[in-house]
Amino acid sequence: MAEREFALVLHDIAPETWPDYADFVAEVDRLGRIPISWLVVPDFHHRSNTFEDAELLALLDRRREQGDELILHGFYHCDDGAAPRTPRDWFMRRFYTVEGEFYAIGHDEAQSRLAHGEALFAERGWPLHGFVAPAWLLSAGARAALKRRGFAYTSDPGHLYTLPEDRPIAAPSLVWSARSGWRRGASWLVNERARKRHRHQPLLRLGLHPVDMRHKMSRRWWLETLRHLLDEGYRPTTKIDWLQRRGVVPNSDMTA
Ligand SMILES: [Zn+2]
Repeated sequence: MAEREFALVLHDIAPETWPDYADFVAEVDRLGRIPISWLVVPDFHHRSNTFEDAELLALLDRRREQGDELILHGFYHCDDGAAPRTPRDWFMRRFYTVEGEFYAIGHDEAQSRLAHGEALFAERGWPLHGFVAPAWLLSAGARAALKRRGFAYTSDPGHLYTLPEDRPIAAPSLVWSARSGWRRGASWLVNERARKRHRHQPLLRLGLHPVDMRHKMSRRWWLETLRHLLDEGYRPTTKIDWLQRRGVVPNSDMTA
């Protein structure tokens, strides 16, 4: 069988969410060297600032030096745009998610938040290649702004997209909806099936959220899945390493 890889991706990294992940990351480290892709939110919900938290910054510095990838994941993460005006808008912003920061803003605001995030990464000396929108949602204006900024890629649940071309590359995600009991039960089933269905894909992404860590069922499923994948011969990678090794994005970064 062709080589298969997986990327372990931790969503919503900020001082407020790190305690959810800390023990889990320690357990992952015990499985061997598994590089992690960290989705960093600069100022989570306007109240938890990653770039003002010396401890978290030092941790991310260390992880980066070990080969982990740091990715910009929105700026505030929450949707604080004006109230939804259309039924579709209401569905996307209140029912599907309340975290679609880059779905609720247009081109200019997206551009300014991206530039701000890039500057924070650059000040810290962190290479930057990827941008992932909160809840994977981009408005048309935000998407246009993103394409002009110099990022190598973005993603949604099914694909990575090289930028600025916006060329999709299949890379399915396993992801849980862990916020209620019935959603966790359904997620277990959906993800077990998805893992089998996607067994021929060269890259499988594991998209973890802080809430997954707070429930035994989801947390245990993620650890067991990591073990299964390693046993089945999957190699762990970061998203940017995988893209660069395949030669689909350049081997430089936008802060260099
Ligand atoms: Zn997120």
